[in-house]
Order: sequence, then structure tokens, then C-alpha cells
Amino acid sequence: MATHITEECINCGACEPECPNEAISEGDDTYVINPDLCTECVGFHDYEACQAVCPVECCLPDPERRESEDELIARARKLHPDKAEVHKPHFPSRFSKDKHDKHHHDKHK
Ligand code: SF4
Ligand code: SF4
Repeated sequence: MATHITEECINCGACEPECPNEAISEGDDTYVINPDLCTECVGFHDYEACQAVCPVECCLPDPERRESEDELIARARKLHPDKAEVHKPHFPSRFSKDKHDKHHHDKHK
């Protein structure tokens, strides 16, 4: 899923400089994310950087745009052909964190 910004946004601007893909900009009513640029931070972080700094936590996965990790890393690689870190076989991803969390969770059931 690409991330989207909900109407809870208070237009503080904190998220914009945090995006590794420059996907965030000021919109008419709230800040907005260009879904063609958002990789859910796959390739860069194991969390969504915008959501991590958002004071109202309104940068959420867009249920209308469900995308696999493969699609997201492919997007990151296309957007950053010269950035070695996203072309490595092992890259930061919220999906691996989810797997880890699930494992962790299962272990402690
Ligand atoms: Fe940018 Fe990451 Fe937020 Fe997507 S999830 S808009 S890539 S900071
Ligand atoms: Fe809106 Fe959150 Fe971004 Fe601030 S950090 S502009 S509240 S989405």
C-alpha cells in the first residue's frame, strides 16, 4: 500500500523533509502523498518515516492502494537508479519488521 495522509492532518509540515522519495507536498487542505513516489519507505527504513514524525499519526496505509513489498522495492529502485543502498539484496522494509513482530508475537503467545 502506498501511504496516504488523512483529513486529521494539521499541516505542520514535519513529514515533508523526512520522505526519502520526496513524495510529500503541501496540498489544498492537508499535506498529500504522491502514491507513484511512495514506497512506504521500503528500501530506506523499516517504518514509514512520515508517520514516525507525524504529531497526529495520520500517515496511514491506503487501503485503496495495496501493494506488495516486491512492487514497492521495484519502485524504489526505479526512482533511485544510482542509490546503492536500495539495490542491495537485503534492504530495510516495514514488511520484514512486520514478519519479525509477528514472530515475536507468536513466540510470546
Ligand atoms: Fe515518503 Fe515513506 Fe511516507 Fe511514503 S511512507 S510518503 S515513502 S516517508
Ligand atoms: Fe500533516 Fe502529519 Fe505531515 Fe504534519 S506530519 S503535515 S500533521 S501529515
